[in-house]
Amino acid sequence: MPLCDTCGVREATIYQRHTGKKLCSECFIKSVKERIKKEIKKYNMINSRDRVLLALSGGKDSFVLLDVLSEIHDPSKLGGVTVIEGIESYNRAEDLEKLRKYALERGVELHTTSIKELSGYSLDEVVKKSFEKGLKISPCTFCGIFRRRGINHIARLYGYDKVATAHNLDDEAQTVIINILRGDINRTMSIHPMRKNPSELFVQRVKPLRKIYEYETAIYAKIKGYRPQVVECPYLNLMPSLRARVREILYLLEEERPGILLRLLETFDEIFAEETIRSSIKLGVCRICGEPTSPGRDICKACELLLRVGLLRSQIT
Ligand code: SF4
Ligand code: ZN
Ligand code: ZN
Repeated sequence: MPLCDTCGVREATIYQRHTGKKLCSECFIKSVKERIKKEIKKYNMINSRDRVLLALSGGKDSFVLLDVLSEIHDPSKLGGVTVIEGIESYNRAEDLEKLRKYALERGVELHTTSIKELSGYSLDEVVKKSFEKGLKISPCTFCGIFRRRGINHIARLYGYDKVATAHNLDDEAQTVIINILRGDINRTMSIHPMRKNPSELFVQRVKPLRKIYEYETAIYAKIKGYRPQVVECPYLNLMPSLRARVREILYLLEEERPGILLRLLETFDEIFAEETIRSSIKLGVCRICGEPTSPGRDICKACELLLRVGLLRSQIT
């Protein structure tokens, strides 16, 4: 067995593809933690006084977020939140219990809410109604919008200063490409770490894992003995087709040229930095539910979707 390229003492058991290094478990974990800390510092994402709400799904990425943040930030200033989608064959109860236990061991309280509490309907009910109407809206579109809303709702309710999500490098690279392919500059800038909060109704979001590859979060969780359940969401194959294609292509490119996603995101950070600082986009307020809505729109996306499927009797607050 070769020795670790970093410490030169322990046996290397992990190949860190994008750096070409062979690492031992300890040095690998350290590498992930250090890069998360560096990214937080670089963009001043979190300061020591901040109360931070961690958006936790129960998967490997959210485990890494919880594990690292509870080490580098005062756990009494952390909380977690999970939004239950309401998908019958995708019951994440087991993962959630594992996560709750782990969070509590670290002194982090876990809040939960559900799409049903937020909209009056479970995701299954919204999707069923949408299919009945023959609408071609991906379940992931409903899911993403209501999950974001649920997280923000809990953050406001409990007075958190920041929301930290577990988006990894693969997620972020896909989103950059999709927004550029759509020609949507405002949305492209909206995921830049230097973006100013566009509405007082939004609790500022940060993404500490944005420079960590998905394969790294999987290895990290495995080393730490965290095993998320392997059940897949039944709607996964109904993911919006552009994201599915971009994901597939980026995986192939990364395999051929390891490090390509990291270079893509670093280039994005640089090119859009000035533009993002200069931009002063302010969101409007939805005339139905009072939540933030994109500039130029008087109805938010959540209300618009519920109206389209004929389910707008929501109790969104
Ligand atoms: Fe939600 Fe889509 Fe993920 Fe399923 S695959 S949990 S619908 S975002
Ligand atoms: Zn080592
Ligand atoms: Zn609305």
